Amino acid sequence: MHSTKLKITFLGTGTSTGIPMIGCTCAVCTSTDPKDKRLRSSILVESLTTTIVVDTTPDFRYQMLRIHNTKMDAVLFTHPHKDHIAGLDDIRAYNFFQHKPMDVYANALTAEALKREFAYVFADKKYPGIPQINLHTIDETPFNIGDIPVQPFTVWHHKMPVFGFRFGKFTYITDANRIDKPVKKLIKGSDVIVLNALRNEQHIAHFTLQEAINLVHELAIPKAYFTHISHQLGKHNEVESLLPPGIHLGYDGLVLHV
Ligand SMILES: [Zn+2]
Ligand SMILES: [Zn+2]
Ligand SMILES: [Zn+2]
Repeated sequence: MHSTKLKITFLGTGTSTGIPMIGCTCAVCTSTDPKDKRLRSSILVESLTTTIVVDTTPDFRYQMLRIHNTKMDAVLFTHPHKDHIAGLDDIRAYNFFQHKPMDVYANALTAEALKREFAYVFADKKYPGIPQINLHTIDETPFNIGDIPVQPFTVWHHKMPVFGFRFGKFTYITDANRIDKPVKKLIKGSDVIVLNALRNEQHIAHFTLQEAINLVHELAIPKAYFTHISHQLGKHNEVESLLPPGIHLGYDGLVLHV
């Protein structure tokens, strides 16, 4: 079976505050290790012909500049929390040099939030120069963006439905602490999974490190990378050295070929 080769770039791997957190003097926030600097969580998914970003974080502009990105075909949103949508205005740059609206895909909850929180983008009378967006409200039906297959599925972030995405053999899940059985079945067989692992202490809306490890083992996925990491988890190198085989902490700038 032919499957598209994908390049995955971790644009950000931090929780909503980022690391360092403003004003924090903890050992992680003051670490000089570049792997302890985490922008808000997002990935770039690329084939030879197609480029997709998952979420537009408050750091979106800088995330695109630091990888020297020059092309964007679509935005996929996981959920409407501010750390995942705040950077949407900066897709204007692509409008300007690609001369077309940006295709944006989101579940119904996120689409409603985008219309509310970026009301000027969807206004009848638009100010010149604002983002141009083709908003597609999608369900869990698989579809393609260019040559990249996209399988959306719903996971639970406390009580909020959040989209995870399977792209061929690669699965991305941020901001979740519960996954229903049928979705686990859909994810199984992935070669690589990204999961959120906030910290060691229990949290109402995120997997802990141990919960994320247990889930990787339950799903029997050979390679896993954790994201959406809090400064409370500890320094990258110290946590990384304790992880079981095949399981790693993600870090900003990490590139995978799947
Ligand atoms: Zn988040
Ligand atoms: Zn800190
Ligand atoms: Zn969230």
